[in-house]
Amino acid sequence: MNKHAAGAVSLLTDIEKDGPGYNLVMPFFVVEGKGVRKPVVSMPGIAQLSVDLFVKEVAKARALGVPAIIVFGIPKKKDSQARGAYDPDGIVQRAVAAVKKNVKGMCVITDVCLCEYTDHGHCGVMKKSDAAADWAIDLEHTLELLAATAVSHAAAGADMVAPSAMMKGQVRAIRAALYKNGFSRTPVMGYSAKFASAFYGPFRDAAESAPKFGDRTSYQLDPVDDRKALARVAADIAQGADIVMVKPGLAYLDVLRQAKDKFTTPLAVYNVSGEYAMVKAAAANGWIDEKKVVLEEFTAMKRAGAKIIISYHACDVMRWRQDSLALERKKK
Ligand SMILES: [Zn+2]
Repeated sequence: MNKHAAGAVSLLTDIEKDGPGYNLVMPFFVVEGKGVRKPVVSMPGIAQLSVDLFVKEVAKARALGVPAIIVFGIPKKKDSQARGAYDPDGIVQRAVAAVKKNVKGMCVITDVCLCEYTDHGHCGVMKKSDAAADWAIDLEHTLELLAATAVSHAAAGADMVAPSAMMKGQVRAIRAALYKNGFSRTPVMGYSAKFASAFYGPFRDAAESAPKFGDRTSYQLDPVDDRKALARVAADIAQGADIVMVKPGLAYLDVLRQAKDKFTTPLAVYNVSGEYAMVKAAAANGWIDEKKVVLEEFTAMKRAGAKIIISYHACDVMRWRQDSLALERKKK
């Protein structure tokens, strides 16, 4: 474990000393405006929030004992250069600054990608501006913009940045830019093994980031290819990632396990929107016991090797835990 990772992981584990033994990260979607709460229909219990309500929800999550959050931004305007992503006054930058100012002890992680900010919805910028028919990502320029985005998040107060664009060399580019700009201690969590998955459907509603043309199979991983996934994990570690991630979770526990056996870098798993939506839908119908299913899933992810679990269930799990602790106290 390198020095950033030790700091990042102890940041989580220190806070969660009395927790359930999972280092939970709760995702949030932040939008422009004031007093805005726009529920995501396919993800019951999750809403897009304006910065003011976001800060209140993060304070509640902290009070429940959730040790960390990851922030996604939905900007007012999108353009071909994803300007909103690295704008010092952008939505994520303002949200991070507001939380760091108002909520003590919360570890704030930011998602570093361009897809919420590009008008075409891809994770990088294009070589040609009007390229719908014959599109190609401009890798070099994309890396510069991803690095600028990460630096702007760190400048706003982010405790950790998490590049999710799956662009080759992104961790190295971000690590170098952080060093150069005085944020050498900011840890980087790579979305290292990110598969081109149908389980992301509800997220794209939440983040309004579905590609307008083409798909992401040119830069995300093929679900059959666990070897390539492990190679990407190794590459991220070589480039300086402090934590590496497998995404999605349940359908890829074997990849998590292989990564755990092969590498010593701490592992995170992203229990994604589709996984959450399936549990919520079945529970709403009375077909499964939501609490038992979620805790069983978390146990499986931990058993497979995850040190950190990013999940939309994070607040629920901590609430259940508080309820059961209160019940135990009553019994005594
Ligand atoms: Zn993206």
